[in-house]
Amino acid sequence: LPFVYHKKILVLGLAKSGTAAAEILHDLGAFVTVNDSKPFEQNENAQYLLSKGLTVICGSHPEDLLDEGFSLIVKNPGIPYTNSVVAEAIKRNIPVWTEVELAYRISEAPIIGITGSNGKTTTTTLIYEMLAHAHKQPLIAGNIGTVASGVAKTATKENNIVMELSSFQLMGTELLKPKIAVLMNLYEAHLDYHKTYKEYTDAKFNITKKQDDSDWFVYNGEQKIVKDYAEKSLAQKVPFYVSKKTAEGISADNQYIYWNGVELFERSIIALRGKHNLENVLAATATAILLDCSLESIKAVLQSFQGVKHRTQFVLESNGRKYYNDSKATNTLATKSALAGFTEPVVWIAGGVDRGHSFDELIPYLPNVRALVHFGETSERLQKFGEENNIPFVKKVSNLKDATSLAVEVSQKGDVVLLSPACASWDQYESFELRGDEFIEIVKALSTS
Ligand code: ADP
Repeated sequence: LPFVYHKKILVLGLAKSGTAAAEILHDLGAFVTVNDSKPFEQNENAQYLLSKGLTVICGSHPEDLLDEGFSLIVKNPGIPYTNSVVAEAIKRNIPVWTEVELAYRISEAPIIGITGSNGKTTTTTLIYEMLAHAHKQPLIAGNIGTVASGVAKTATKENNIVMELSSFQLMGTELLKPKIAVLMNLYEAHLDYHKTYKEYTDAKFNITKKQDDSDWFVYNGEQKIVKDYAEKSLAQKVPFYVSKKTAEGISADNQYIYWNGVELFERSIIALRGKHNLENVLAATATAILLDCSLESIKAVLQSFQGVKHRTQFVLESNGRKYYNDSKATNTLATKSALAGFTEPVVWIAGGVDRGHSFDELIPYLPNVRALVHFGETSERLQKFGEENNIPFVKKVSNLKDATSLAVEVSQKGDVVLLSPACASWDQYESFELRGDEFIEIVKALSTS
């Protein structure tokens, strides 16, 4: 690989992905320096890479770091472009990649890339499950948790890498050319990292920027901003429409799913709930069709798939109540999707880190909410929000356990009990995963007691 062999390469940021990228580059014959702000003594990844013979600089980002004369920088997606080393590298015209570009360069397998503001993980998982069911040897990678370049290193031509891509990852791509690119939707998110909404949406467009007419672009045909970007894409196009039957692309009305206007299957077979999930289902189905999955495999997955863990995940039904874990809903928009997905009365558990964000977007969905039980930093604001908007029962408790017990108490047969916090978890938990795991345990314990 000419961009690697005997080249001086700097890897910035040693999380899981940086460590894997550094090791891969080293094994491919590059002279790799790694730089991480965490001090060496507490930095297991740095210690490991030093033992492998890489150059390690830890504890700060020294001003003169770039004087080494690097021909390439691979940076962690979380390091902003305002970081002094990154900004200086750009000034000196040194390419700055994220690790997914490296994954693309070393991969023998075609890449199926999925991005968007919401629904990435669900769609990525659906595509993976459909391909697996059809024995197409998929590998799952990227933002979803497995390091893209680590997966790409072992992939063969027989595989398909199903890769979840965040806007942060996509900003650092150059030649990345997915065989199928999927763009779910674009909402105003992540503006603290991206300077402007345009920068954020442009980053998402990188997913199709290098595609040509041998590739496919699957996109949301009902969002103007996405359609405008699609017009610039050179790939063959498959738009998806969740609210009307259309002659082109994949679409749905109340009864059927259609492929280019022809019935594919009945909508009632889909286990996932909510219109937002229908977007995910249509995007995944279109992708699976393009990859020659049988309709039988596609339908089998749609009938059984109950949602990715922590994303409006069905937990269990007990005593006439259905329990859902939507711990991943760390903002108002995600909770809006969850609330919009239910027609049953909902007992809603919410609360967590207070970023000062508004809950007002949820107001149209509150008539369905029978009770709101809340905890964490946002409690006072949620109390006010619930009372002002006439939720019949609103109460503050101190933690998730008490919240769940109270929610069960005030619920009635036929209700949904939903944890959808609309807030991040860090005030009481290390991660939304741990919060969701605890909810599942509490629900299981309560339903057997
Ligand atoms: P991402 O990986 O993009 O964060 P997920 O699939 O993990 O998306 O879903 C996160 C949350 O976002 C879900 O719990 C759900 O409430 C909401 N959501 C999922 N899909 C969509 C969609 N297509 N449009 C809007 N909201 C969605």
